[in-house]
Amino acid sequence: MKVASYDIVFQEIPNEVTLALNISQCPCHCPKCHSPHLSEDIGETLTEDLLFGLLERYGAGITCICIMGGDAFPKEVNYWLWRIRTLGKKAAWYSGKDKKADEVEIRNVDFLKIGSYKEELGALKQPTTNQRLYRIRHTFRSAEAPQDTPLEEHTWEDITSSFWK
Ligand code: SF4
Repeated sequence: MKVASYDIVFQEIPNEVTLALNISQCPCHCPKCHSPHLSEDIGETLTEDLLFGLLERYGAGITCICIMGGDAFPKEVNYWLWRIRTLGKKAAWYSGKDKKADEVEIRNVDFLKIGSYKEELGALKQPTTNQRLYRIRHTFRSAEAPQDTPLEEHTWEDITSSFWK
């Protein structure tokens, strides 16, 4: 899984300062794609060295790291989301598919965008969009909770409308 480019962004994830990693080899081929170069095999392989280098350069203010794409590599996306959370950052994934890949465990995700790009409906900032951004809330069973309480629960909160205000 390769990083074609990266940015520090403020709007893609509400209320977070986000290091966005733009992943190449996108398999989605959405008509009128806004970033057609991302379907190519370009960029630098995502490694610990690359991630730590970026965090060293920009880390202090970053609260969230977002994997933008990577739909061709869901197992790797899952690993990196997990790794990001171990670093104390929120983990976000912008998928270009209409459904979350099974390989990506929701327990590793703090923010999830799903939905293919459809030019006629627009992206997240358009109220007509088919895309959705979810905040995933995680709760874990406390030691005092009854034994029939689930060990962990993950609630999907649709926060797409925060882009329209
Ligand atoms: S998911 Fe994004 S980068 Fe991939 S084809 Fe669709 S619009 Fe382009």
